[in-house]
Amino acid sequence: MNTNIRSTNSFIVRIITTLWLLLPTANCLVPTFSCKAQSDILKYAHQIVDTLSAPGMHGRGYVLKGDSIAADFLKKEFEKIGLKPVGLEFYQKFYFSINTFPENILVKTKNRTLISGKDFIAYAPSPPVKGKYPIEWIDKNTATDRKTRRQFVDGIEKSSHNNKALFIDTTGATKELSEDIYQLAFESYPAVAFRIAGNKLTNEVSTTLTHTPQIVIMKNVVSLNDEYIEISLSNKYIENYTSRNILGYIKGTQYTDSFIVFSAHYDHLGRMGKDIYFPGANDNASGCAMLLNLAKHYSQHPPEYSIVFMAFGAEEVGLLGSKHYVENPLFPLKQIKFLVNMDIMGTGEEGIKVVNATEHKKEFDALVKINEEKKLLPGIQPRGKAKNSDHYFFEEAGVKTFFIYTLGGIKAYHDIYDKPETLPLTEFEDILKLLTDFSEYLQK
Ligand SMILES: [Zn+2]
Repeated sequence: MNTNIRSTNSFIVRIITTLWLLLPTANCLVPTFSCKAQSDILKYAHQIVDTLSAPGMHGRGYVLKGDSIAADFLKKEFEKIGLKPVGLEFYQKFYFSINTFPENILVKTKNRTLISGKDFIAYAPSPPVKGKYPIEWIDKNTATDRKTRRQFVDGIEKSSHNNKALFIDTTGATKELSEDIYQLAFESYPAVAFRIAGNKLTNEVSTTLTHTPQIVIMKNVVSLNDEYIEISLSNKYIENYTSRNILGYIKGTQYTDSFIVFSAHYDHLGRMGKDIYFPGANDNASGCAMLLNLAKHYSQHPPEYSIVFMAFGAEEVGLLGSKHYVENPLFPLKQIKFLVNMDIMGTGEEGIKVVNATEHKKEFDALVKINEEKKLLPGIQPRGKAKNSDHYFFEEAGVKTFFIYTLGGIKAYHDIYDKPETLPLTEFEDILKLLTDFSEYLQK
């Protein structure tokens, strides 16, 4: 995703790049001299995305308490903007267990040491493993060919896979066959399983542990000739980890007990050892930047209805922060007139998608009308219900919600490439305008 301009090795390109970096408007994404100075909105957005995605935030996960550092930062921004805490304080605590990988992971074949994050990742619920194991493969052919399947199943019965590294390759298999391959593989209780990734490594986080240690690995980094693989993976399973939602609001000038809510999760996938972290610039430092820009806007333009800003923790763990809030609301959920959740706000070349558009047709039509009249985004696409971000438990509890995410542009997602320097924020200002106009419509 990150085009390396220096690899062209062209002297001219290097001069232009150097001059570009010396320009005061170095944040412009196109290296051209006609680059306009950035608006205050975009400057603030980049500042938030850069800060939340920086190494010191440790990917806003659970190694080195990155999520907690991010929560403190957001609380300070809420205070600076002038928001009032929704409860007695800005924080709402909640607890869960989480599996983490605080130490660097070593994976080594005979000829090379593989690169963490790029060549492989640890599967989130993996327990630890350390050793050098002979490699065995299971793939489509092993499972469908009668003879090889028989051999594999015989191996399970004789426990002969137990001291092996089993490489599981479901490339070219149907969903059904893939499930069959996985079942065979895990019934054989290998010492460690290497799952061949589809086209990219996509990380996640987990509250549980699997029986078998597992690594997700790119196919091109191992060879069928490799006989052994060496691995050292240690984990730390943390029980009762404390995370926090950050909740602030601006009191309405007219209707103080009717609320419009904007929400965004601030957590991400954290660190995988000391060397690797998942920056989560698009997911969801960009949504936090939108949340804070909205808060700034309303601190300068007092709204008629009270407006609440919710920054949720542990979304990536399974919507835990927002679920906790819905189960423990700080004011009756009935008083929420509408909630707009923002998750992945960093592109927009192809417009936005609106989850729950089909549930709230009137509001969706209003959104589309604003967009057409003001000529903001290239498109607004409707989508039905989906349990894919923090709006979900609110909607289930009877609150009207939209979940909005941007479409097009860079494809980095849940990987080490979701970086601030490659995030274009293409439609950021237009989305902000759309949301403030939509909130005006809701307040009519
Ligand atoms: Zn997200």
